[in-house]
Amino acid sequence: MNLRESILQHRPFLIAGPCSVESPEQLRKTVETFPSLGIKLIRGGIWKPRTRPDSFEGIGTQGLEWLVDAGKAVGIPVTTEVANRQHVEEAMRAGVDVLWIGARTTVNPFAVQEIADALQGSSVSVMVKNPVNPDLELWLGAIERIENAGIKDVSAIHRGFSFYKHPVYRNVPNWELPIALRERRPDLAMICDPSHITGKRSLIAEVSQQAMDLNFDGLMIESHFDPDNACSDAAQQITPKDLQFILSELVLRSKIVSPQIALQLEEIRTRISSLDEALLGIIAERMVLSREVGQFKKENHIMILQQEHWWKIIRQKLECAETLDLSPAFIRQIMDAIHQESIRHQLDVVNKTK
Ligand code: PEP
Ligand code: MN
Repeated sequence: MNLRESILQHRPFLIAGPCSVESPEQLRKTVETFPSLGIKLIRGGIWKPRTRPDSFEGIGTQGLEWLVDAGKAVGIPVTTEVANRQHVEEAMRAGVDVLWIGARTTVNPFAVQEIADALQGSSVSVMVKNPVNPDLELWLGAIERIENAGIKDVSAIHRGFSFYKHPVYRNVPNWELPIALRERRPDLAMICDPSHITGKRSLIAEVSQQAMDLNFDGLMIESHFDPDNACSDAAQQITPKDLQFILSELVLRSKIVSPQIALQLEEIRTRISSLDEALLGIIAERMVLSREVGQFKKENHIMILQQEHWWKIIRQKLECAETLDLSPAFIRQIMDAIHQESIRHQLDVVNKTK
């Protein structure tokens, strides 16, 4: 199959299936309604890259046949994750239609190159997930290694980036990275994987909608007929019924339709852009004052960092949060960034020799 063409034809292109293949029965019960949900590709992990060694590491080679047979039974192609030469050879021999490279593999150029070498001469379709760390070049590099092996049909999957103890996400979306990838490679089809971004069922609808609003071409969602008893990623898998509900609620907003609407949008954007410029101008003006205060501190032998003073300022600013309709976390971030830049300017002034 030509995956890229198919993705662009069916936007949003829907990929679903269990995190891990567990048994023929699990696959059958999970995918039986997929044709009516519009699922175009069935996913299922055979070899699982698990963080801890005591977790379920996948059913292994025997599951390939179950996966391929489950796809044939409902007339939908199938995809699995490959992480080394042996996986590539076995998956292709079994007739898996599309291969994907997981986040823990994309991060390692040696592993990606081994996969690329194993793919030489084949015409299989490949999807490349982002690396676990937010590094656009590494993501691009993995895509290029696969393309350099002669694979023409490569697509990208955004699954979020590792973050230590994030209060909301399992992997933070950092949407600016897939957006930057799109700028660099507008020819690539881009799928979002809300399951691994969120790590929990309750947020999958929301992140799927965000992906649609950010012009992603499709979604990869983990689905299991009995998620609570899944061998891996139980908390984020959803039943086919829940999947159906989420898909039915998705709002697909159109790209600009009439020139008049385009003009109105442009007008709002221009206003936003001039406000942004004004904001930067004010910040620059504020840094002139920072340099002035730096000079004053230097002349009077006062230390640059006055921690108590800064805490007092932060407290005052946080008190404005509600009246300004800004979140305290946002105010804190902005103030911290301003403070850092201000310290940089002050240090510059204080350490100038003349
Ligand atoms: C998966 O898709 O099951 C998987 C292991 O994902 P990731 O590579 O994004 O962690
Ligand atoms: Mn998973």
